[in-house]
Amino acid sequence: MRPGHAALGYAAARVAGAALAGVLLGALLGRPFGGMALALAAYLLWHLAMLYRVEWWLQHRSVTEPPETGGVWGTVISLVARLHRRKRFHKERFVQLMRQLQLSTAALPNGVVILNAQREIVWFNRMAGRLLGLRRDTDLGVRIENLLREPQFGRYLAKGDYANPVIVRRSSPQDSYLSVQLVAYGDGQQLLLAADVSRQMRLEAVRRDFVANASHELRSPLTVISGYLETLSQDPSLDAEFAVPLAEMRRQAERMNAIVRDLLELSRLEETDERAGGEPLDVAGLMALLRRDVLARPVHPREVRLRIDSDAALIGKESEIHSAFANLVDNAAKYTPPEGSIEMRWWSDIEGGHFAVTDTGIGIPAEHIPRLTERFYRVDPGRSRATGGSGLGLAIVKHVLQRHGAELEIESTPGKGSTFTCHFPPERVLLPEAARSSG
Ligand code: ADP
Repeated sequence: MRPGHAALGYAAARVAGAALAGVLLGALLGRPFGGMALALAAYLLWHLAMLYRVEWWLQHRSVTEPPETGGVWGTVISLVARLHRRKRFHKERFVQLMRQLQLSTAALPNGVVILNAQREIVWFNRMAGRLLGLRRDTDLGVRIENLLREPQFGRYLAKGDYANPVIVRRSSPQDSYLSVQLVAYGDGQQLLLAADVSRQMRLEAVRRDFVANASHELRSPLTVISGYLETLSQDPSLDAEFAVPLAEMRRQAERMNAIVRDLLELSRLEETDERAGGEPLDVAGLMALLRRDVLARPVHPREVRLRIDSDAALIGKESEIHSAFANLVDNAAKYTPPEGSIEMRWWSDIEGGHFAVTDTGIGIPAEHIPRLTERFYRVDPGRSRATGGSGLGLAIVKHVLQRHGAELEIESTPGKGSTFTCHFPPERVLLPEAARSSG
């Protein structure tokens, strides 16, 4: 039998016992039914009293002991006490867990902010308070963009691509930098992670300045050396045996000039992370200019074709775009034999504007392609040096494209040729109708 049934049987036996005792006592006085009614009334009163005691105990559970009783009331009391103990155990565990969580997030070196679907602040840890200047009494419930008003963060939010963190420059404390990233979770909520990257940014600035200064300092002595070498090589009184070493020295001096020039250009590009502004550029005109430059090289691929499939203009910074396209065309010319050919193509579609340089040159093995835009990365260092390459050309291309919101795509088959394509986003393309209606 289940315990509940036992209690029920026991209670029923007690009622029956009380009734019987009442009947017997009543019978002694000649009123058996009166005796039974009295006994049942007494029994009922006892239950009411127990109910009241139990209710009082439930109300004051934390300060009084449970009433000591057996029977059904004893079972009820022990069940309630057990539930209560279990609840207290879970509550304590929960509080302990919360405390651990609070301590660990407080110890985190990074700032963590929980945002709801409206990007309002729900909670933040101590470091987030320090890094972002948040205060618990005023900033909970406020939208994060109203507190973090830096333009870089605004653009990051507008873009909606949170795969990478954004570097935000803060005005106070002066020259401090934060790396901020949003991570989506749950039902539209977001975590904002913030870290102080001022030190890394300062080191990076020191490195950039060093490269820029060193390149700048090298420029003047190099100009002098190149000048003397030039004069010497034209001196008719010089012995013929010096002709070969002099030519080699001039070639090497020219290479050093190219490296210094490219390093300075890279430093200039790295100076700001800002997007390049720009004016509408005549891509077809630029392509014609680049073709002329290739054909003016002493050795060049036999054929240089232009394919202009769009009369849209490209909005960009002219000097930078010229440099990027020239580097791609220059590479195509360098790594394609004289009997090969080069094609430049410009077209536009709903995805934006595209500039591609295709050559029938030596091509690039697939394993090198992901690393080509690293500084000084060369597939064949000997060949690159022999062609006067600085190893910085594609790094410059990558930087220029980044500043224009564009991407570089490289396709290549060794022995067959390569295609380097610059994909510009639609906002960088100005169609002639748009130019006419705005002008
Ligand atoms: P470099 O001054 O050495 O040409 P780049 O940064 O312009 O430096 O290019 C990096 C490397 O990529 C080159 O050394 C070369 O190995 C490879 N490369 C670039 N363009 C081409 C191309 N069109 N065909 C074959 N290899 C290329």
